[in-house]
Amino acid sequence: MLDTGRTARRLESYVSGAWRAGQGEAKPLAHAATGEVHALISSDGLDFAGALDWGRRTGGTALRRHTLHDRALMLKAIGQALMAGKDEFYAESLATGATPRDAWPDIDGGIGTMLTFASKARRELPNAHVLPEGPVEMLSRDGSFVGQHILTPLEGVAVHINAFNFPVWGMLEKIAPALIAGVPCVVKPASQTAYLTELVVRRILEMQILPDGALQLICGGVGDLLDHVTGQDAVTFTGSAQTGQKLRTHPAVVQNSVRFTMEADSLNAAILGPDAGPGTPEFDLFVKEVAREMTAKAGQKCTAIRRVLVPAAHEGAVIDALRATLDRTAVGLPDDAQTRMGALVSLGEREGVRARIREIAAEAEIVCGTPDEVRLSSGDAARGAFLNPVLLRCADPFSARAPHEIEAFGPVATVMAYDGVEEAVALAKLGKGSLVSSVFTNDTGVAAEMVRGVAAFHGRIMLGNRDSAKSSTGHGAPLAPLVHGGPGRAGGGEEMGGMRGVKHFMMRSAIQGTPRLLAAVTGEWVPGAPAQQDIHPFRKSLAELRIGDQIVTERREITEADVEHFAHFTGDTFYAHMDREAARANPFFEDRVAHGYLIASFAAGLFVMPEPGPVLANYGVDNLRFLAPVYFGDSLQVRLTCKQITPRDGTVYGEVRWDCCVTNQNQEVVAQYDVLTMVAKTWPLTE
Ligand code: NDP
Repeated sequence: MLDTGRTARRLESYVSGAWRAGQGEAKPLAHAATGEVHALISSDGLDFAGALDWGRRTGGTALRRHTLHDRALMLKAIGQALMAGKDEFYAESLATGATPRDAWPDIDGGIGTMLTFASKARRELPNAHVLPEGPVEMLSRDGSFVGQHILTPLEGVAVHINAFNFPVWGMLEKIAPALIAGVPCVVKPASQTAYLTELVVRRILEMQILPDGALQLICGGVGDLLDHVTGQDAVTFTGSAQTGQKLRTHPAVVQNSVRFTMEADSLNAAILGPDAGPGTPEFDLFVKEVAREMTAKAGQKCTAIRRVLVPAAHEGAVIDALRATLDRTAVGLPDDAQTRMGALVSLGEREGVRARIREIAAEAEIVCGTPDEVRLSSGDAARGAFLNPVLLRCADPFSARAPHEIEAFGPVATVMAYDGVEEAVALAKLGKGSLVSSVFTNDTGVAAEMVRGVAAFHGRIMLGNRDSAKSSTGHGAPLAPLVHGGPGRAGGGEEMGGMRGVKHFMMRSAIQGTPRLLAAVTGEWVPGAPAQQDIHPFRKSLAELRIGDQIVTERREITEADVEHFAHFTGDTFYAHMDREAARANPFFEDRVAHGYLIASFAAGLFVMPEPGPVLANYGVDNLRFLAPVYFGDSLQVRLTCKQITPRDGTVYGEVRWDCCVTNQNQEVVAQYDVLTMVAKTWPLTE
């Protein structure tokens, strides 16, 4: 290892409210591409039990004082500031061996994921401390005893033990949902690339946006930390299956039923459809994607393609095409403009990858690449952890074990031939559970059969074809709105997936009681809870409006003339509204019926205030159901109740959700829905 005299940065941990250096001799961390000592790391002597306690008491208490939207806004501000200062992260990332192009999903991708969470949370969750989930369940005939699920933040700490390959994304995609949920985080990056995570955490803490204790960082080993986790804490782990299994069965984790999410080895497959032979766009897309996944981040991605499943008839063509691309891949220093693939994270990892290639090669032949001889366009293979891409071919994939079980965490993949879709599905399943697989086909039958065949073994499946060639986000990219994780060998965890990810850090409880008490818990009106009727609620600005403000309208009779007029005016002359005999022959109706949309329109006519007022706009309805037919002569009445109020930050309005219940003269509910409106914070409007 070459030390050029540059002073290596001694990393610190941020625990219990201060940056602290570990005691004793620190471990040197080498620059992946040059071998220079880049940083020093040690967490010896830190008080880990104290850190957990400080996070729970100081961070958790402070976070829970805020609403879901408050916390999302903190992340938005942090994400924007990180994005503005990202250049220094890119510079630091070079030491991990990643080219700037490889660093994009880590840095821009990580910050973008955080911003997506911040925005989705404010759009999809209420601005509240408690998150109601699902409908109110009637538990008694008279509606006096009801139930609903609610989610509240865990009162512990989220401990995130992360892998070396995504030092930024790996942290941000996990702290974003946890912090929105209201749970403080202790981040433990993999030592090898902890310098980049440490830099980002420094910048986040300097912003002073998060409350004290919301974010802590451990650079180095976690010591006895796991001995102190409780049933209110959550532990997430990304890395090798071996370490994961050890931590999952840690006595404190087992005894305290600690939530443990694991993402480990995954032998992801890319499957070329039987229809996608040479000359088709899908064939070209497949070859490009396999080559890209093998070489992006030098193949050190949990989602990288490891198994290349191809129809036997096209195996030779696929290998030739891949060899042509892989042989052209310029391997070298990550900051060299010619470089297409940078270095592995360390010389030690390179030795590990070589050893695993040897294991796979015992059951397969190498058809491209020379694992022990490195060809470089720049850099020094003795000092930097460089390796050229290695492609193998396994002639007997059903009896071979290694290509389905050995994850060579580098630019390595194995081609395996199949005969028919059933065989392709069976081969994909030999991975025993994967994060992702992709199927390249333009045939709807193949797509449906493959997905149904392999879905139970996969967290995500990407279908690639000519129509999404330009827009596809690709095989390897986990996306904030979609789940990431896989069963079996992949660890059995699930993360992100939009607001599902937030809920992983919250407790779901079923609350049972009267509508009045339930409404007090959730802050949302529930049918049967008290309501107040004074002035028309549409005359009230957000400053005056209260949950439970209600109007019960006059009645309006539906006539044949109304239905005839509506039918001819809108063009909706469906027979059930127009033809008595045909309507009577319909099993649902006894006679001609009013249009559902006529009912909703009359309902609006009954409850709106025509004059300009604080209700600025109606932006939709949710859960609209027509529950009973409305016949000529029936009379309709509307009960409209303010159900949920969501003030919007930085605007002059907020969103108000109204429970809208339309009944007939027999008090039967004929239509039920939520009306969504924008309501001014004050009226008249003031900027
Ligand atoms: P490890 O499992 O060794 O490390 C993963 C994380 O766990 C690191 O933060 C590590 O910290 C930490 N850790 C290790 N031992 C303990 C322990 N006893 N208690 C608490 N934390 C611990 O994996 P590596 O990152 O070294 O990668 C090794 C292999 O794992 C790769 O070659 C690859 O095969 C696989 N891997 C899989 C990934 C995936 O997502 N599928 C991602 C990354 C790696 P420290 O670094 O300080 O030891």
